Order: sequence, then structure tokens, then C-alpha cells
Amino acid sequence: METTMLESFIKDPRIAYFSMEIGLRSEIPTYSGGLGVLAGDTIKSAADLNIPMVAVTLLTKKGYFRQEIDAEGNQIEIPDEWHPSDFLTPLGKRVSVFIEEREVKIGAWLYIVESIIGGKVPIIYLDTDIEDNHEEDRGITHFLYGGDDAYRLKQEIVLGIGGVRMLDELGFEIKKYHMNEGHSSLLTLELLRRYKRDIEEVWDERLVWDAERVRRLCVFTTHTPVEAGHDKFSYDLVKRIMCEVIPLDVIKEFGGQETLNMTLLGLNLSHYINGVAKRHQEVSQDMFPGYEIHAITNGVHSYTWTHDRFKRLYDRYLPGWANEPEIFVRIGKIPSEEIWDVHMEVKKELIDYVNRETGVGMDYDTLTIGFARRATSYKRADLIFTDVERLLRIGEGKIQLIYAGKAHPKDTPGKELIRRIFQVKEMMQGRIKIAYLKNYNMSLALQIIAGVDVWLNTPQRPYEASGTSGMKAAHNGVLNFSVLDGWWIEGHIEGITGWSIGGPPHEPSDPIQDSDDLYNKLETVIIPTFYENRHQWTKMMKNAIGMIAYYFNSHRMMRRYVTEAYIR
Ligand SMILES: *Cc1c(COP(=O)(O)O)cnc(C)c1O
Repeated sequence: METTMLESFIKDPRIAYFSMEIGLRSEIPTYSGGLGVLAGDTIKSAADLNIPMVAVTLLTKKGYFRQEIDAEGNQIEIPDEWHPSDFLTPLGKRVSVFIEEREVKIGAWLYIVESIIGGKVPIIYLDTDIEDNHEEDRGITHFLYGGDDAYRLKQEIVLGIGGVRMLDELGFEIKKYHMNEGHSSLLTLELLRRYKRDIEEVWDERLVWDAERVRRLCVFTTHTPVEAGHDKFSYDLVKRIMCEVIPLDVIKEFGGQETLNMTLLGLNLSHYINGVAKRHQEVSQDMFPGYEIHAITNGVHSYTWTHDRFKRLYDRYLPGWANEPEIFVRIGKIPSEEIWDVHMEVKKELIDYVNRETGVGMDYDTLTIGFARRATSYKRADLIFTDVERLLRIGEGKIQLIYAGKAHPKDTPGKELIRRIFQVKEMMQGRIKIAYLKNYNMSLALQIIAGVDVWLNTPQRPYEASGTSGMKAAHNGVLNFSVLDGWWIEGHIEGITGWSIGGPPHEPSDPIQDSDDLYNKLETVIIPTFYENRHQWTKMMKNAIGMIAYYFNSHRMMRRYVTEAYIR
């Protein structure tokens, strides 16, 4: 049908970028958090830089979920249905995979990411909601991170195995397969099958599997030191569901003897493996000894994560910044007063939104601290409430707090965190104003990260592999106040680009020390600088732009993937 639209993309070999979730914009809710937004930023930078890429993901027609929160802070999850035909074009082609001994047909939709300067990257969205499929199989591509292990394995079969087959069917020639996290690792098995050596009699059956060839084609990025973030499937499940491709003993050789570990499978069949920050590389190296793990620190897409008002300011003083964020090195050209004025305009927009949404009555001039990210235990959204009395003594009348974030539907402690913030808010009786905004998504993220004065991050070390929201904040001159973990170890210069919380990077997190340091700095450094030393504050805002946005952007990141992973 519409495959002619693909013609310009299938002439030259491409990098195939596989990701379970991709976050391009709020209206396409096929992402849950940092991993998906990073994937979107990766693709956008590839388009800007004319990197020949094609991305593959699942359609997830019912999205992740839309979040409502009741008066007590209980999260309510509503399917976030969207209409693919509003944004995507169906491609006529079909491929199939076998799941539970049934043939499952897979269709494809096309979205083309277009750079403002002309480059394009196609994204292929895989869809099993097709009439000839068994009722159960039609739901495989409905929910992002929904269902049980069996559901997840089926999704990963469609993504990894179905994805490789679909690229082939559409006529793509692929020179590298980049697995963004282990969800797509099954693609390695499909490649093993495809490049099986044609030898009739071999003394060792394993010789028919050309692992070296597959390795040369594959790049693997690991994204989290959190154990639960690495998918593992029991071989009973694998045997029941995944009934083809290659023999079980070969799968075990690469994916682990006890369970099918998707990270291990990716590691064993990739020639280049990386973590997403320097510290994360070290942590991953300890988790997976014997593999050579590199580091490419994450970045964010500058144009996407700069508020319109700041875009206009940068356009005036630093033309070309969006496609060459290194130009931020000349941030000194912009007068401090103009940075502050634009910041205040953006802040007013946010405060007006918060007041409309929640009625908490925040004001424009109070130091406003933001905390928005997935609500999950290690992120410790409530660390600042360790000693509420002390926080009141320090912050009453001087700070206000804006929160947002979804908890995964099965993350009970994550949901408890949201309730806890509502309880503290109740306790405070408005002495420190707190707002929890519902349904955190990309457009709300841009509003919050750009509109607060300070971006707070208090993860438990070493679980923040990178983190990216603080980089977004810096693109808008917002100052980071954060635990030394992930990217912040590389971006932090105390009192110059922002402030740290707690001890040095290699010590385990001590919640008492962390909260104590947080209160101390808030009281003796951050609050006084904000209210009494505007000059120093705006100087730091400019440092954030000139030293953080300058480096922590996805253009720099993609240039590194090209030179270090893709063309090796
Ligand atoms: C950037 C972003 C994230 C990632 O935030 P971290 O603080 O780095 O975990 C999550 N969700 C949304 C909607 C984002 O835009």
C-alpha cells in the first residue's frame, strides 16, 4: 500500500535501533519514562545529523496509562488509548512469528521523524491487532509493560524476532542492530538462525551457529543497575511460548543456563556494549564481569527540551544552537537580566498552571523546587520529608514544591510514595506549599523542568544509571541540586553548575547523611543565594547552559555512538 513512502529509506544500509518504548511527543503515549524519552531523543538527533537509521518498536495502542490521583493520593490508572491513524501510516506488509504454536501475523505502521533541518528517520511500529489473529494474540501489542511474564515474552518475540523479519520484508538493508535495553535481545536469535552455516556433517553441532557474525552486527546498551529491570524468563515459559527459531541448548549457551536472561543474551551476542554514564559503566562492569563494557553518557535533544521562550532567546544570541549545542559555550553573550526575565516568564506560566490545576495558591517569587520522574522507591521522592519540622523551620515562607510522576501499576511501594507526599502536604497545612500534578508526560515535563528554579534529584546510589531530566532542566537555566549518581557525577561542579547532596559517588547512600546535607545546603547556600544574590544565581544559570547543556545533549551522544559503536 504505502511502502512507496519507504523508497528513499531503503536505498542505503541503515542502523536498526530497537526499543520497547519510544517517546516522541505526549500525543503518542508509547513510553513510560526515561528509557523511552531517550529513545525518542536518539532518533531525533539521528534525523538532525543525517545518521542513516531506522527504528523499530511496538505500537502499544492502549499506551502506558493515563494517571488520575484521588484526594488521598491514590493513583488511578486509565488506559491511554490513542489512534495510530492520526499520526502513522499503515504499511501493507505482513510477517509472522510462532507463539504458543500459533502463527501470529504482524503488521507495521510508519512514522517519519523529520528534523527541522531536513533529515529523516523512519520508525516502524509493529502491530498484532490484526483480524486473522487469534483474539488473545491481537492484544500482544496493546499495553506497554502490562500483563505477566508470558505477555512480556510474547511482546519481546514480536519486537525482536518480528522486528528483524519486518525490516527484511520492507526491503531494508541493515548494517548494525542497536538494542536499546534487553527487551529486544531476541533479535540476536533470529540473526543466528538467518546466518546459520550450511554445513552438512559437522563434528560439533555448535559450529553451524555463526555467533561471531551476529556479534559483529550487534550493539547493546544496558540502562539500569536495578535487578528487576533485567528481564528473565523461565525455560518452561520459553519452551511453552517460543517454539521455533533455534534449539534450546543454543539459547541456553548465550542466554544463561538457569533462566533466559535477556541482558546476558544481548551481552553475549554484541561486539559493543555500553552503559549510559561513566559511573554506570563501572557498576555494570561489576554486575557483568568478563564483558568489556564501555560508557557513552546519555544526552537530551536540545531543541525538544528547550522551552519556546528560551528557544527565541538562544535564536537571537546563539543562532545555530539547536543543531550544534556546542555553541552554548558562548552563553556569556546573553545578558544575565535577559536570562532571568525569560526564566520568570516561563516560571509564571508554570505557577499559573499549577494554581489552575490544584488551587494551592503558589506565587511567582518564592523559590520553587521541582521533583518529577517515575515514582519508584530508589528515586526517594520523600527524602526531603525525612524531618518535616526541620524542613518547616528552614523553608516556611521561602520554598514551594512541585511534584509529578507515575508509579508502575504493580509498583506498590511507588504508589505509597505518592500517598506519602499527599499526607505530608496535608500535614503542612500550606505552611510550605506542595502540588502534585497528575499524569506526568513529555509536555508536562517540559513545563516543569523549565519553570522551576531548582531541580531536585535524590536517588539511592548507585541505582540512577544516568538520569536525563536534570539535563533538560539545565537547557533552560534551571539549577540541579542532586545526589552524586549517574550523569550528575560528570556534570556537577559545586557552586558553579549546581549543588550536590550527600557523600562522594562511591560511598553507599546514607539516608540520614543525605537528608542532613540537603537541609544544610538549602538553608545556608541555596535559599540565601536565591533571595540575596541574584547576580550569583544568574551566573550559575548561565554555567548550567554553557557547561551542562553544552555537553549533555543527544547530538554529542549520537556522534559517539556512530564513531565508537556503529562504524566499528
Ligand atoms: C525525561 C523524562 C523522564 C526521565 O526522568 P529522570 O528524572 O531522568 O528519571 C521520565 N519521564 C518523562 C515524561 C520525561 O520527559
